[in-house]
Amino acid sequence: MKYISTRGRAPTLSFEEAMLTGLARDGGLYLPESIPQMSHADMRALEGVSYEEAAFRVMRPFIGDAFTDEEFRGIIARAYAGFGHAARAPLKQLAAGHFLLELFHGPTLAFKDFAMQLIGQMFEFSLKRSGSRVSIVGATSGDTGSAAIEAFRGLDAVDVFILYPHGRVSEVQRRQMTTPVEGNVHALAIDGHFDDAQARVKDMFNDFEFRDGVRLAGVNSINWARVLAQVVYYFTSAVSLGAPDRKVSFTVPTGNFGDVFAGYIAKRMGLPIDRLVVATNQNDILHRCLSTGDYRPDGVAPSISPSMDIQVSSNFERALFYAYGQDGGAVAQVMDELKAGGFTVSQGALEALRETFDSGRCDEDQTRAAIRNTWAASGELLCPHSAVGVHVAEAQRSPGVPMITLATAHPAKFPAAVEEASGIHPPLPERMADLYERDERVTRVANDLSAIETLIKERIAN
Ligand SMILES: *Cc1c(COP(=O)(O)O)cnc(C)c1O
Repeated sequence: MKYISTRGRAPTLSFEEAMLTGLARDGGLYLPESIPQMSHADMRALEGVSYEEAAFRVMRPFIGDAFTDEEFRGIIARAYAGFGHAARAPLKQLAAGHFLLELFHGPTLAFKDFAMQLIGQMFEFSLKRSGSRVSIVGATSGDTGSAAIEAFRGLDAVDVFILYPHGRVSEVQRRQMTTPVEGNVHALAIDGHFDDAQARVKDMFNDFEFRDGVRLAGVNSINWARVLAQVVYYFTSAVSLGAPDRKVSFTVPTGNFGDVFAGYIAKRMGLPIDRLVVATNQNDILHRCLSTGDYRPDGVAPSISPSMDIQVSSNFERALFYAYGQDGGAVAQVMDELKAGGFTVSQGALEALRETFDSGRCDEDQTRAAIRNTWAASGELLCPHSAVGVHVAEAQRSPGVPMITLATAHPAKFPAAVEEASGIHPPLPERMADLYERDERVTRVANDLSAIETLIKERIAN
């Protein structure tokens, strides 16, 4: 299996190379050259198997010869062993025909654990085999950083440095980043906003001397291996509702478009998905684009679903690649236009997107109402991101087709917003109930590239 860039001008890579590289050298994102198919018999055979076994069968055709079957099974087993639910991704019923896929039983209580835990184990295996080490550096507004730290803590071949904006993440998110005791974990609180943290990480990747010197690696949501890990739960949940002999639809709380794009891959592999609904909060650039064809960032308004507060949705480029008939030149051109302020999707490409995707928006009051109403109707306490999904899903359901809304985080990760909306204080799961008592370890850093680079070099030398 070979991987090609969405912009058509980077070398094709193996799965392992694409995973370790992240971004393609032409600025594009990697995608498989062709998409493996799951037959109806393959899908029916997923019924009743463990999540880990389903993960093996769905992902195996994509990884080529990166790992033997036995190695890959071991990687998957270690990735999901720390989840707090035997089903890993349990499906709950909210109402007639409407289901909630709970993706928040991983170690940091958000769906990002599904991909990050897997990529952690894959990195460790690959790097140990080649005898090399890397430094993972990432910027976070909260969930990605805690998931990355949790996935890489204690691994031998990796140091992990996460920059988060000082004073601007929730207390649970901060403590998840600052309380791990392992020496390879480095939480850095930068004096600035998330955009500053992200800009300094980009600067580090563009400083080639530094980049090569510390062997920088990225695990942000454009990494293909992360998308692939997320394809699995579309299959497990749909099969449990009768697929492939019955169609299902999904609604996905969306920011960077990684999670919903994984659903698109599942559909292209043969899963009978009727509609894939992109749910946005008040930062609705994707909803506007899918409605009008116009993609034009106009500033982020902070919301109570902060992990979806985006202007530039990086993985949308992958959907555009298919919508433009796999024409890398066309994708490169719209991405250049984006740098200059925005772009308009061609009529043909917009129709192609709409063949699969619907979209909807949920404002702050509607988010709070969805938390309150869902609690009253079903006893299910939603985090604000999942509430955006449920609100949008209710407007988009069609009779006879079950709707599965993805619940992307545990309510206890956003206790203030949940309590304000519902009057209920969501408790942390038992296994992390002492989070508030653990010691914190964090380094304050100035918003200054050379100071951050010096710190990283010193830490690696020790
Ligand atoms: C990251 C995140 C999202 C958005 O997912 P994308 O793959 O970026 O679209 C939604 N909800 C939560 C809780 C998240 O952490």
